[in-house]
Amino acid sequence: MAKLELRNINKIYENGFHAVKDVDLDIEDKEFMILVGPSGCGKTTTLRMIAGLEEISSGDMKIGDHLVNDVAPKDRNIAMVFQNYALYPHMSVYDNMAFGLKLSKIPKTEIHERIDKAAKILDIDQLLTRKPKQLSGGQRQRVALGRAIVRKPEVFLMDEPLSNLDAKLRIQMRAELIRLHNELRTTFVYVTHDQTEAMTMGTRICVMNNGIIQQVSDPKTIYNKPANLFVAGFIGAPQMNFIDAKLVEKEGGIFAVIEGSELRLSDENASKIKSGNYVNKEVILGVRPEDIKIIDADNGLKVKVEVTELLGSDSNVYFTFKGKQYIAKEDSAINLSYGQEIQVAFNNERIHLFDKESEQSIL
Ligand code: ATP
Repeated sequence: MAKLELRNINKIYENGFHAVKDVDLDIEDKEFMILVGPSGCGKTTTLRMIAGLEEISSGDMKIGDHLVNDVAPKDRNIAMVFQNYALYPHMSVYDNMAFGLKLSKIPKTEIHERIDKAAKILDIDQLLTRKPKQLSGGQRQRVALGRAIVRKPEVFLMDEPLSNLDAKLRIQMRAELIRLHNELRTTFVYVTHDQTEAMTMGTRICVMNNGIIQQVSDPKTIYNKPANLFVAGFIGAPQMNFIDAKLVEKEGGIFAVIEGSELRLSDENASKIKSGNYVNKEVILGVRPEDIKIIDADNGLKVKVEVTELLGSDSNVYFTFKGKQYIAKEDSAINLSYGQEIQVAFNNERIHLFDKESEQSIL
């Protein structure tokens, strides 16, 4: 069992900086949990506290059923894979992988068996006699993973392990890590600032900002039901569009009034607004680029095309409305030119509304 429990964990560095604030998180056995957030949000500090490389200022850290606050890193049955791989340059791949096992006095034949198995899983069995400098970035990354696998840890901790790879290799390694997780059936905790990596790899995602957990959920829920404005803006590329709006009640429905234009909310959303006492309140309306469509009718928002970015079958269309820029994702078959006036409509089933003061989602 390698369930992790983080209870009210805080980290205050010696200079007084409060980097991690009241983090309360359960990571289930065999889960692939991603800690994601912008630079400086406290994700590496959290991971290092799990590893035991950083002292906890307050709170309780449990691995399995054991309180590990004061347990040394080597006794936590975890393995950590770093961004820079940290391989020993003068040792062969085999010796790099064997190093920790020799220190633990594991018999030679078992070391050999474990390395053989891990090398096959990672497809590096042809490289065992090479030195790290004779390997590509992706191969080095595999060796770093191999060195972790042979220790048979209960928990794998990874800190941006793919950030030194080029874009193509990164995508390939993402798929390999998912496969590896399925094959090893152990708990993975993975730190990244890249929301695409988080969305594609995690069984669950923990979004952090300013040392505080913003939301913990599966990727679909994080994307479709962001808990607040920060999560809504951080997850998704291109970013969700945000527009100031006022909610008014008329003609038996609820309308979001945006700069004089009106958008009728779905009946389900209207009843949530009424029960939450949001009628006549100023809110922030969020709409993802794929939920804005160009329409032929005359009842849409009149906007001006700025730039189009061809992505393949889709294009990102940047347009301005009342002096502010927004992005829509449209079918590339539609021909648009700079400055062209078009009408767009928001999919009112898929809009998001946020409280202007608390920035929490209200739908
Ligand atoms: P990045 O993606 O840039 O690595 P992160 O989310 O992993 O960011 P952390 O490395 O956990 O962030 O750092 C969190 C905050 O704590 C940052 O503001 C950082 O400057 C600060 N910090 C990190 N280490 C120390 C330290 N030893 N002393 C003081 N402050 C620190």
